[in-house]
Amino acid sequence: MALSEAPGAVCAHTHLYSGLARFGMPAPAREPENFVQILERVWWRLDRALDAESLRASAFDYVAQALLAGTTTVVDHHESPSVIEGSLTVLAEVCESLGIRALLCYGATERNGGPDEARRGLEECRRVPPSPLVRGLVGLHAGFTVSDQTIRDAGELARELGTVLHVHVAEDRADVEDARRRGYEGPLERLIALGALPPGSILAHGVHLTPDQVRLAEARGCWLVQNPRSNEGNRVGYAANLRHSRRVALGTDGWNADMAEEEAALFRVAGEDAGAAERLAAGRTLVAERFGEVEDRVVREDGRVRRVIVGGRTVVDEGRLLTGDVEAITAHAREQAARLWRRMAEL
Ligand SMILES: [Zn+2]
Repeated sequence: MALSEAPGAVCAHTHLYSGLARFGMPAPAREPENFVQILERVWWRLDRALDAESLRASAFDYVAQALLAGTTTVVDHHESPSVIEGSLTVLAEVCESLGIRALLCYGATERNGGPDEARRGLEECRRVPPSPLVRGLVGLHAGFTVSDQTIRDAGELARELGTVLHVHVAEDRADVEDARRRGYEGPLERLIALGALPPGSILAHGVHLTPDQVRLAEARGCWLVQNPRSNEGNRVGYAANLRHSRRVALGTDGWNADMAEEEAALFRVAGEDAGAAERLAAGRTLVAERFGEVEDRVVREDGRVRRVIVGGRTVVDEGRLLTGDVEAITAHAREQAARLWRRMAEL
């Protein structure tokens, strides 16, 4: 029996709202041909179909599995257009109850309801309840679904709340082309020009940033988050230029939060040069910037997660979750998933 102890893993970009997808999400009626169609036909249908109960079930299942995999912090990016107000309270309650550390935001967007929808999304970012394990960020979905004014408002709110922005950047070429049509060099330059990127801001993906843009993000103190399984699944390309920054963490973009699996995917697509260990260490630095130094620990036995301690509380022991009944959580998630697929079909 070989025991080893290490700091808990950080999933630096994910979506708790998509946690039910593993319970047999039906394929879209028409096969998507590009990234924007994947969003329109899959994820933007799922997010509109969510209500508070399915969201809670999704988050419970996702967080329970994350803790059992030795992930002690999730950096979440949330959207549920049919239930904006109170959605971050639902997520915060789940994280506190199961005992995972979390950075939460609502990804404000104008894609369903225009500027008013964006305003409501930003307002929700104010309402993350104060708690030892949870901190709020300000979120934007992505440049291509918001106006310049919403980006300015997000930057102002981040300064007012003393926090940072969390946003998808250059995940697909469509985001880059959109920023150019609006008269900017690219989506990163647009966020900078509109004053929305305080140092420490979190930029998910960056697949289509040039080496100079990646260096610019680093110089501005921003984090980039690579999500290899998601990038491969959405066929948006490999984020090769991220090697030009030392501030790059690893995320899962809604895939399960087992960071060993994500690390293996990075190794598979990029080989040893990808620097998976550095990416995981960077995630812990990102968390320290928001929480101060944390002492979250994972004990493994022959590689398998045995004990997990978050903020001084033992949440997994003997490989079992102490803070929730996993079987009941999974069963409830499965029930809610079936209901969610019916709602999605009606949209
Ligand atoms: Zn994402």
